[in-house]
Amino acid sequence: MAPNVTDANGVLFESDAATPDFALATPPVEKADNYPRIYVWRNIIAFTYLHLAALYGGYLFLFSAKWQTDIFAYVLYVMSGLGITAGAHRLWAHKSYKAKWPLRLILVAFNTLAFQDSAIDWSRDHRMHHKYSETDADPHNATRGFFFSHIGWLLVRKHPELKKKGKGLDLSDLYADPILRFQKKYYLILMPLACFVLPTIIPVYFWGETWKNSFFVATMFRYTFILNVTWLVNSAAHKWGHKPYDRNIKPSENLSVSLFALGEGFHNYHHTFPWDYKTAELGNNRLNFTTNFINFFAKIGWAYDLKTVSEEIIQNRVKRTGDGTHHLWGWGDKDHAPEEKKAAIRINPKDD
Ligand SMILES: [Zn+2]
Ligand SMILES: [Zn+2]
Repeated sequence: MAPNVTDANGVLFESDAATPDFALATPPVEKADNYPRIYVWRNIIAFTYLHLAALYGGYLFLFSAKWQTDIFAYVLYVMSGLGITAGAHRLWAHKSYKAKWPLRLILVAFNTLAFQDSAIDWSRDHRMHHKYSETDADPHNATRGFFFSHIGWLLVRKHPELKKKGKGLDLSDLYADPILRFQKKYYLILMPLACFVLPTIIPVYFWGETWKNSFFVATMFRYTFILNVTWLVNSAAHKWGHKPYDRNIKPSENLSVSLFALGEGFHNYHHTFPWDYKTAELGNNRLNFTTNFINFFAKIGWAYDLKTVSEEIIQNRVKRTGDGTHHLWGWGDKDHAPEEKKAAIRINPKDD
């Protein structure tokens, strides 16, 4: 039984683990039912416009905008990315580390810039995604196909299972944070300012960019780009890649997604050990900008109580449920059984 209320979210903590290696139990991969799609036309129109505007913005990014605007768009992309990865995802949805208020304030500002709904709402959806992964109660259920798990889930009404099972989800830990309550309460004022108004005004005011370049590059292109990068974690990283930690689930290790998503593409690991602040095994830090970001704030004391998985637990899990692609299983690894090495057929070996 979970020891206290905040541990009773039931998704994401060591105390929920029911397997010998302290990993979360593997949920069965289910097929979605044939729930009829009820389209949300407002969203379909908004997202269509957004993507057309972003295409134009991408063109202006390459051929028309000032270099300062391009760099500014890139910086905003990294900031809003961290607002999702280090903030909504690793800190709030998974509680994989703790943060003092100045860091929470930075992260909530970055998160508002990303406009993927308030951190409380984002975390609610994400806890459902992990708790009911690849069932009808998973908001972006990957068994409904690539398109649905990428953007389609935002264009139709939510499956009734989500509402039903969502009622059992405890979000009291999130509502207990005044910074998160403030963001949610004033979201419709703060979000347009952070995501659209300021990013459009700053380039015009500070380096004389045109309104057109400013709006389409720093705002529409940058916003749509980070949206798609986030969605790739739900779509591509639930479809393509190896499964060294758990072959029974869809989430996979996808390096290209990690590169753009600031380290969030090591998705087989993440679904196996969702409470690890690195969302990846130690050693993947080069592609894991978010981990380096958290490590930096841990050094100055603003991030603390970072949870991670021991090598022993990882190895046990890899042996028990992995698909055999884990790097520890490579030739000459310290765990490579000597008998197996001796018995292996080696074609054209050079003396070594
Ligand atoms: Zn996932
Ligand atoms: Zn997650």
